Amino acid sequence: MKLRICHLYPDLMNIYGDRGNIIALSRRAQWAGIEVEVVNVPLGASLDASACDIIFIGGGQDKEQALIAKDLQEVKGKAIIEAVQEGAALLAVCGGYQLLGKYFKTGADAVLPGIGLFDAWTVAGSKRCIGDVLVECDFTGERHTLVGFENHSGKTYLGESLKPLGKVLHGFGNNAEDGREGAIYKNAFGTYLHGSILPKNPWFTDHLIRVALQRRYGDQASLARVDTSFEDRAHQAVIARIRNRGKLDTGAI
Ligand code: GLN
Repeated sequence: MKLRICHLYPDLMNIYGDRGNIIALSRRAQWAGIEVEVVNVPLGASLDASACDIIFIGGGQDKEQALIAKDLQEVKGKAIIEAVQEGAALLAVCGGYQLLGKYFKTGADAVLPGIGLFDAWTVAGSKRCIGDVLVECDFTGERHTLVGFENHSGKTYLGESLKPLGKVLHGFGNNAEDGREGAIYKNAFGTYLHGSILPKNPWFTDHLIRVALQRRYGDQASLARVDTSFEDRAHQAVIARIRNRGKLDTGAI
């Protein structure tokens, strides 16, 4: 089996090690015996919806977001939506997540249009949300935790029917108000978590690979089990750091 990972704007949208997500996806798929091709899709390049198995877009500051907002509208947006409608997996982090929603209103009152894949919108806030994040998720049917690092001023609000990625146990998440983090639409996931997120959350990495395989090779395509002990230690280290600072209620997880 082979998977094609499309990395959008690798040179512009890559902060706090977001490129590590591409490495984690590639390595875990290869360790499970799957061939991987990573396709860099920079500004101006088009995207072939039917050829994308996993789409990734990282975070970036307002300056980079202004550059790519136009390209998303004019060059890539339609194909991204088409790929997700067909079942492709997608992960969008922070600045990338914001522009896959309806719009991002910056601190300078500029409105950057999004492609509306997620029924969500973002407005710049007056304080930055910075630090370790711990999120509880149940969208796989099992309970899992996600750890990561956030640094954003944008506050994202979800439309009524859009599901969050999870519930914030520690940190700020979408908007520091409603206890929700990220968004899920079909196999597309938006999140504020950098870190990078996937190396420390192997269950989530494997979920993205699994849904991409199933879309390409059918429901019976299964992902071979690959050891997660190092990744789990990295995951637990973040939880321990939050707990040692006295910032997690005993019994929260
Ligand atoms: N400019 C956005 C914000 O601060 C995104 C930042 C990021 O991607 N880390 O809200």
